[in-house]
Amino acid sequence: MKQSLYYIPTLKEAPKDAEVKSHRLMLRAGLIRQTAAGIYTYLPLGYQVIKNIEAIIREELEAIGASELLMPALQPKSLWDESGRWADYGPELMRLKDRKDREFCLGPTHEEVITEVVRDIITSYKKLPVALYQIQTKYRDEMRPRFGLMRGREFIMKDLYTFSATEAGMNAWYEMVKEAYSRIFKRCGLSTKIVASNTGEIGGIEAHEFMVMSEVGEDTILYSKSSDYGINIEASDQKEGDMAPDGSGPLFTGKGIEVGNIFKIGTKYSIPMNAYYQDQAGEKKPVQMASYGIGISRTLMAVVEEHATEDGLIWPESLTPFDYHLIPLNEVDDAVMEVYHKLKENARVLLDDRDERPGVKFKDAALIGIPKRIILGRDFKDGRIETEFYGEKSTQSLEGFLASL
Ligand code: ATP
Ligand code: MG
Repeated sequence: MKQSLYYIPTLKEAPKDAEVKSHRLMLRAGLIRQTAAGIYTYLPLGYQVIKNIEAIIREELEAIGASELLMPALQPKSLWDESGRWADYGPELMRLKDRKDREFCLGPTHEEVITEVVRDIITSYKKLPVALYQIQTKYRDEMRPRFGLMRGREFIMKDLYTFSATEAGMNAWYEMVKEAYSRIFKRCGLSTKIVASNTGEIGGIEAHEFMVMSEVGEDTILYSKSSDYGINIEASDQKEGDMAPDGSGPLFTGKGIEVGNIFKIGTKYSIPMNAYYQDQAGEKKPVQMASYGIGISRTLMAVVEEHATEDGLIWPESLTPFDYHLIPLNEVDDAVMEVYHKLKENARVLLDDRDERPGVKFKDAALIGIPKRIILGRDFKDGRIETEFYGEKSTQSLEGFLASL
């Protein structure tokens, strides 16, 4: 990709109202652009990273046997009346009317829709379990949208729903998804703590959250430093300094960014929404449901927060929008294009072919954060290049480098 054509509107300074480092950097690096409060456009570079996160999620969920579908964002009130949540959900639900005055909402989550999708099909134990997920835009009229993609009113979520015949079946899915989530976040370059949490709006029996520990996190976590015990303070009657219930040591507090959330829902939706099946003995029973979310746009924000300085970032290899940033400092001639085409055979390459001073190119390269930079400078005509891979600089022969690919 030629940088002269690729749309990366980097900014010298971030807007004043961007309070956290990752938000400032995402605006400055041309990853996102605000459209309205809590509503963002994902610019090409930011959207490429989103797609890379999504690819990791798809791989890990397909590996455990979940299938992808896409449900509507626009949902009829009638479904939400069936579950009782039209009345319960409160002002966070974005409600609207069509031209015939029928009421709808823009989906903040999809338990009702998915239950409606499967309930006529899963009427026998033979049709269970079912595991379906989607990657989709969600809407919540948050009281305080803030910190860029951290708390949006429109955001990208991956939501997965499992339907099982028995509670043991639901529990088995829950454990499997929990492990898949750990792999997903690890592959995104994030270390997460799994903490017990309240069951919240979604409701149900048991829930856990995946937290990236960070000063800018909105949740407060109590955790042990000597075991993996952790709990969201909202769900706890313990306090800092208390002995952890597993006896591993005192509890500490820290802030966390909630990037994922998993819920054992049980029959909270299947009973009112009439999702029953017949078991082997011919007895009618409600299906056991669980639901699992990952905030994809929030995950992007957490990755940036973890990896950013004020001047730029270095993307983890798994998410980088390009593999190489090729930066010629002089004229883009045939020799430069030859290197570009050679690299492109096996990798995604961004070629800075802009007519800009080296200083401008380096500043933008630091902001954009492609981890492997190849600089074609003064000695390029003598067959030597400069590389800067993950911040480590060296000079080497072009021939040797190309042979090593
Ligand atoms: P929070 O406590 O942060 O409001 P939640 O418990 O309401 O989150 P869920 O309903 O479990 O969130 O949604 C699944 C995931 O979607 C969350 O773990 C989070 O990563 C993400 N998410 C939720 N609300 C937002 C939002 N307003 N903006 C961006 N991502 C969000
Ligand atoms: Mg919420």
